[in-house]
Amino acid sequence: MQPSIEEKVKSFLLSLSRSLGVRIERVLDLYLYANPNNVRIVEVVERGGEIVGIRIAVKSEKRPDTWYYTAVGYYGAKCTCEGNTIGGKICKHILIGVITWNMIALLKQGREIDLTRLTWLNAGDKEV
Ligand SMILES: [Zn+2]
Repeated sequence: MQPSIEEKVKSFLLSLSRSLGVRIERVLDLYLYANPNNVRIVEVVERGGEIVGIRIAVKSEKRPDTWYYTAVGYYGAKCTCEGNTIGGKICKHILIGVITWNMIALLKQGREIDLTRLTWLNAGDKEV
């Protein structure tokens, strides 16, 4: 039997936690934060029938009426928050982007994104 979407999401979040060295509780927090109240999808980038990245807006947890713009893809990631623009860190918005991108890929294409292709994810310092 094929694993359900729910099982695929669970195993993806576990892989993400392991590959980042970030606690699963923190990854789950980010997953739960990634709902339509806090995250808006700006663009889904497709190439050759594959979703290769997305652009999103993420609402700030601390600053009212502040949204950060985040792009994630196999090519790399960028965010307009200070942690990324000044510190060059992999921020929580970028991780929310990866989680959202994976959900879109699962729902639209039925397959997860390939974490092993996200070499930039392990290269940078994390601020999550
Ligand atoms: Zn950010």
